[in-house]
Amino acid sequence: MIVQGCDPDQHRGTDHYDPAMSETPEQIYQRSVDELRMPPVEGWATFPFDGEMRPRALLPPETSERKRHGEGGVDCRRCAAADDEYIWTNERWRLHSLREPSGLPVVVLLETRAHHAEPGDLPDDLAAECGVMIGRVERAVRSVGEIGRVHVCRWGDGSEHLHWWFMARPARLSQLYGTFAALWDDILPPTPEDVWKENLVQVARALSAGGGGRP
Ligand SMILES: [Zn+2]
Repeated sequence: MIVQGCDPDQHRGTDHYDPAMSETPEQIYQRSVDELRMPPVEGWATFPFDGEMRPRALLPPETSERKRHGEGGVDCRRCAAADDEYIWTNERWRLHSLREPSGLPVVVLLETRAHHAEPGDLPDDLAAECGVMIGRVERAVRSVGEIGRVHVCRWGDGSEHLHWWFMARPARLSQLYGTFAALWDDILPPTPEDVWKENLVQVARALSAGGGGRP
């Protein structure tokens, strides 16, 4: 139940929810550890692996959540990074690529310039702009050409500094459809360096053309 109003100035972090009656991680573990299922992956056209497979043993819950890199902005690499490590920046957002080419033609990450942890932690004005930025980056990645879909993903278990993944799935390679594109990124050989760099230049150019910021 939301007990806080929706005044945008007061919105951030002040919503209060009564917790649901949910299972604890221990309960989930106990009822799952001997009941793991092997899904019918041999019938999944996008599943990238072949051969005999079984689920890994489920490990019990740890005593606390693992620390993420840069928690609370302390020693955060993304806060400390200079603008020249990014392919595009403006006052509130920065876009960077992986250090080296991977299997997909474009993989870029959109970050807030300031340190925020969760999408739900953003002040409402920045959250609204986040929606606009996701659209702009998606269009810019698509402008590279021969892109079938740009997957927009947020995981964030490794580094706390808020970041959104944009993973470009090549057009017409239907075996790469869906979530396994993130795995195919490690299976396809790396995009040739010159092609990769030109793709990133195109993304930065399209972003700048679409409303400011600096490549
Ligand atoms: Zn940070």
